[in-house]
Amino acid sequence: MCGVLGILGAINLLTAKNVLQLLVHRGQDASGLAWVDEYHVHKMAKVKGAPITIPVTDNIVEMVIGSTRYPTSGDRLGGVAKEKFAQPFAFQTDFGTLSICHNGNITNIKELSDKYYHSDAEFITETLGTYINETHDLSTALTKLYETLDGSYSLVGILKDDIFCFRDSRGIRPLIFGSSADHFVFASESICLQQTGMQEISDVLPGEYIRIHQNEIKRQQLIVPQNVAHCFFEYVYFASSASVIDSRSVYRVRLNLGAQLGQELLTKGIAADYIVPVPDTSKSACETISEVLHIPLREAIMKNRSSQRTFIMPVKDARELAARSKYLFIDEFIIGKKLLIIDDSIVRGLTTKYLVQILRDKGAAEVHVAITCPPQRYACYYGVDFGTDAELIAQHDTPIEYVCEQIGANSLTYLSSDGLLRALDRKDLCTACINGNYPTPYGQQLRLLVESGSIAADSTHYE
Ligand code: SF4
Repeated sequence: MCGVLGILGAINLLTAKNVLQLLVHRGQDASGLAWVDEYHVHKMAKVKGAPITIPVTDNIVEMVIGSTRYPTSGDRLGGVAKEKFAQPFAFQTDFGTLSICHNGNITNIKELSDKYYHSDAEFITETLGTYINETHDLSTALTKLYETLDGSYSLVGILKDDIFCFRDSRGIRPLIFGSSADHFVFASESICLQQTGMQEISDVLPGEYIRIHQNEIKRQQLIVPQNVAHCFFEYVYFASSASVIDSRSVYRVRLNLGAQLGQELLTKGIAADYIVPVPDTSKSACETISEVLHIPLREAIMKNRSSQRTFIMPVKDARELAARSKYLFIDEFIIGKKLLIIDDSIVRGLTTKYLVQILRDKGAAEVHVAITCPPQRYACYYGVDFGTDAELIAQHDTPIEYVCEQIGANSLTYLSSDGLLRALDRKDLCTACINGNYPTPYGQQLRLLVESGSIAADSTHYE
């Protein structure tokens, strides 16, 4: 998962990187900006780390794109200079410089090329640039790209002096477009458009292409949307609660998830002194769980603001280290208490296990765990950092009792699949990681190869 941004209209580069910083929760591994200066020269700056550290000066530019990177392809394990993997990437076409930022993951990249790419964004940039040279037309080149690629991609790019975006026909990753009297903004999340004062805001539709040439907007449904499959995990975990994605408020969905889970916990008869959110994503759901169960919500676990988000750190030991430094605890609401801790997901189980252990060590009488989505049982091939089944504590038909035992909780309750769908109130979703039904042809093929044993469960063949 990455965050992408594009702005057309006079903007200071320092402001542009602050807007990009709003997407830092979508990745903090590396960041970059590309812009066109007053002499129509394309420039770029990339760093290892958050957007706020991108070395740009106090300059007004007319056009800028940016990315904050989360490593699901290329060098997941780090070690090499991370700015090499940072987006944007550039390619010299016959019509001027092409720069691209991409959010998503290409599943069939190994079928398409033997060449080493730092990331699938670099592959997309080179392939699209080549198609532009062949077809002499950006929309035709994007159609050809669509016919070539399998996976998820929300692209924002600059070609010479035009800015454009394109979203894959299933709309797996979000992409929003907005305009005001003198600016146009593309972004992964609506918070960037709110913060830049955009007045007209709309989702870029699956398969839609938008190009702005000399302040003229061209919106075109380049590809007919098919099997639209918005990633449900954006709503559960990834996106900011303040965002609206594909016409759904993320905060509202999280309240609904809590209401559904609350009902299921009520049926199960789970009792506790306090409901304790694991910060921050599950806090919204806890509001409604507390209302349904009539159990007070207490923030007995606080986020250590100087620490980093663990799920998007690429190395197991780094995750362990971060998990240990990520939280602070309020003993008064822990010692001798029955706690119901609520989290948005259990992926590898490391953080949950650590939290349960520390709450027990501090003297909690009971620690129950409830999760605001169903168990993740299958790898994500579309850009979330559990790219192999082997990484998942609840992989395939692993019994919930086993996961509960592994994390050391008194009980473990996952939201049911029906509860998830009711909370989201839509059917056009990707739910592949919970049921193995992948929305793209090559994703389905990969699943068959894993199940037949032709690809190992711990292989990242698609990267
Ligand atoms: Fe999202 Fe899961 Fe689909 Fe990946 S597999 S895109 S995490 S719903």
